[in-house]
Amino acid sequence: MTGRLIVLSNRIPTGGPPSGGLVVAIHELLAERGGLWIGSGDDFAETPSESFQPVEGGKGYDKAIFDLTEAEYNEFYLGYANSVLWPLCHHRTDLIALDRQYAEGYARVNARVARMLAQIVEPEDVIWVHDYHFLPLALELRKLGVTARIGLFLHIPFPTLPDIEALPERDDFYYWLAAFDLVGLQTEADVARCLDSYRARPSGEMLFNGRVKFDDRAFEVRSFPIGIDGKTFTETAQKPITHNPVYIRANAKLILGVDRLDYSKGIPHRVRGFGTWLENRSPESPRATFIQITPPSRETVPAYQAIKRELEALVGQINGRYGELDWTPIRLIERGVPRDTLAPLYRLADIALVTPLADGMNLVAKEFVAAQDPEDPGVLILSRSAGAAEQMTEALIVNPHDAEEVGDAIERAFMMPREERQARHAALLQVVRDTDIFDWGTSFLDRLNRVERKSPPAASSGET
Ligand code: ADP
Repeated sequence: MTGRLIVLSNRIPTGGPPSGGLVVAIHELLAERGGLWIGSGDDFAETPSESFQPVEGGKGYDKAIFDLTEAEYNEFYLGYANSVLWPLCHHRTDLIALDRQYAEGYARVNARVARMLAQIVEPEDVIWVHDYHFLPLALELRKLGVTARIGLFLHIPFPTLPDIEALPERDDFYYWLAAFDLVGLQTEADVARCLDSYRARPSGEMLFNGRVKFDDRAFEVRSFPIGIDGKTFTETAQKPITHNPVYIRANAKLILGVDRLDYSKGIPHRVRGFGTWLENRSPESPRATFIQITPPSRETVPAYQAIKRELEALVGQINGRYGELDWTPIRLIERGVPRDTLAPLYRLADIALVTPLADGMNLVAKEFVAAQDPEDPGVLILSRSAGAAEQMTEALIVNPHDAEEVGDAIERAFMMPREERQARHAALLQVVRDTDIFDWGTSFLDRLNRVERKSPPAASSGET
């Protein structure tokens, strides 16, 4: 790489050492190569600044923030990003909140960030944009004459063609993506959906090797399945748990679910699956407690308030119906837990229920596998609708909508001989090791560096 690496993500870790797989991976990539990491600040501004503000904590690279007004946070982040694009990409067009102000706020923030970036970017720099918050960014930069390589990694599923049709900005959507040089997606299924949607456009043309021509632009689409820092996770999982394991297991086997409270995660469906297992389980099947750890997210968005009410009512019904004096079947914890508690908790669990209705990858599935004792591993029950299912084929793969299938998988996991658990776990652990987060970052950037740079605007004399 000859120029600087510039990473743009909505959130940027501020204060303290970075934690969490993705954040650590970006931190290490930047620490190794140098560069700049840009994200949104924590505080609202009355009038947003037209230049990035440097912040501390980069360690070998620079960090800077852009600010948002409170209205922009509502329109850009909660509105267009999380009430339009998030449901759209998770195949929930019924939940899309169409509001012209959201679209305007999203466009305004992207245009401003592009103006600020255009002031500092050099032609040889490489810009790596993360996620659905910045889909129009490359197009805005191109309008300003930026010819540097720009890559997008979309962490969430690529929408289907009918989903895209639900977007008022559907025509722009294709131009947004085509202005990047490389569009990285999680899975081969995402790549197929992306190519299909361009193939369906009159001015879309498939070139070879994942390259797409759209109008006067060509760009590349490729899958880069994201991973975790498996080695560190395995080490953390072996540290003593700070809570008493006897209380956690409470004379029962342990089934674990760990997800942000989001309608895409299928938590009520999973609870129904567990209820079906309670109803149908064989006499040989052990008593089991299902601990679902679910920190709230995007709490002001109505769809998130609705899922919380639904989940709490369902858990109450099942506990009321099946609970006994010395056992509560489901323990719902509406808080996050620190990583050094989460990792040993995964290791303690007999089963992980990772059953999203739609998910870009799902890192919980990989974390659970990394945390297991290979001699006596727990069983991963994984939704076929998680991106992770494309690689983690040795999990018990289920249709998350089908409560009976989920219930049967729980029964099968409890009855599974140790040798089968070990063999499945060994294969899954290999996947986790082969798709390490650090390799993911390096391979995306290597690919981005190899794509041909966009031509400069017609008026200019040509690039060097
Ligand atoms: P998403 O990015 O949609 O939330 P992922 O499964 O890809 O879903 O990533 C979730 C990350 O957040 C994982 O690293 C996981 O450990 C962490 N996480 C999820 N739920 C909790 C929780 N209840 N407590 C602590 N960490 C959590």
